[in-house]
Amino acid sequence: MSSLSEFSLIETYFTDLTSKRDDVTLGIGDDCALLQCPDDHVVAVSIDTLVEGIHFFEDVAPENLGHKSLAVGLSDLAAMGAEPAWFTLALTLPEIDNKWLKDFSQGLANLAKQYNVQLVGGDTTKGPLTISIQVHGFVKLEQALRRDGAQVGDLIYVSGSLGDAGAALQLKLETWNDEHLSSQDQQSLFQRLEKPTPRVELGQKLLEFASSAIDISDGLSSDLGHILNKSGVGAAIDLTKLPLSPTLQKIDSKQAQDFALNSGDDYELCFTIPADKQVAFESTVTEACTQIGVIEAKSGLRMIGVDGQQQTLTGSGYDHFSTED
Ligand code: ADP
Ligand code: MG
Repeated sequence: MSSLSEFSLIETYFTDLTSKRDDVTLGIGDDCALLQCPDDHVVAVSIDTLVEGIHFFEDVAPENLGHKSLAVGLSDLAAMGAEPAWFTLALTLPEIDNKWLKDFSQGLANLAKQYNVQLVGGDTTKGPLTISIQVHGFVKLEQALRRDGAQVGDLIYVSGSLGDAGAALQLKLETWNDEHLSSQDQQSLFQRLEKPTPRVELGQKLLEFASSAIDISDGLSSDLGHILNKSGVGAAIDLTKLPLSPTLQKIDSKQAQDFALNSGDDYELCFTIPADKQVAFESTVTEACTQIGVIEAKSGLRMIGVDGQQQTLTGSGYDHFSTED
């Protein structure tokens, strides 16, 4: 991309995209941004890349794409219990499309404002449409919610409801449908896929209570599996307790359970609470959270179904480099 158009593009759409924070000494416009972290905190950093045709469809609304590009990073910060502060944006564009840029940056700006995060730098290149966002947040080192802290006897929770985004994906791909879904139901599923809500406030509340946490990007079975592996424990979960949205409650219950267990993109949090903190946790937290199981010493993930019988895992979360399927 020629320098002139690159500079005017950055100036037009990104330099003043977000509101200014006091801890940004130098933002967009120099070789590096200069940023200040509070003394008693460390910086939590995470990067995610969305590639057209792989992570989003060509026809997705650019405003929703702007939202989701930042939401997935904020979800990672939420899963660590970190307070969002700044982000950088690496944008690869096939061409300069002003309408697209206006809508994309608007989606980005709206979510950034909601969480008071400032865009502090980036890179702009020409090529197949790809969006990388790196997010930065603050957390106290000893409080950070890691994947390796789950202990035998801890209770397993998930926030919100699971499976909507996975159902939307299959609707879009036309690999699944259900006659009980109205077009409004379908819209609510697409909304979950395209405009996920990062559980930022919940993540910070969990600092006081949780022994481990992860955000559900690849699917509950897969992401809970990461907590179990890192913590060197196993778990039993009750499939009848998986929280389903009113929309997913309308479809075949086995199918709904499969979406909730094995499909990704919900960006809910899965976390563990020591049993002696359960009462305090449940009386403090205002967000919807559901206890779905318990951490056990025996490795592996066991699932109890409607009949009280143990079931084996039928699918797994999304793995980009999987050779199966
Ligand atoms: P350099 O050549 O030193 O890497 P660039 O010319 O790429 O600098 O960028 C100029 C300034 O604009 C830098 O401060 C950079 O962080 C910022 N910038 C570039 N692209 C973006 C973008 N897409 N979003 C936000 N800031 C950007
Ligand atoms: Mg550059």
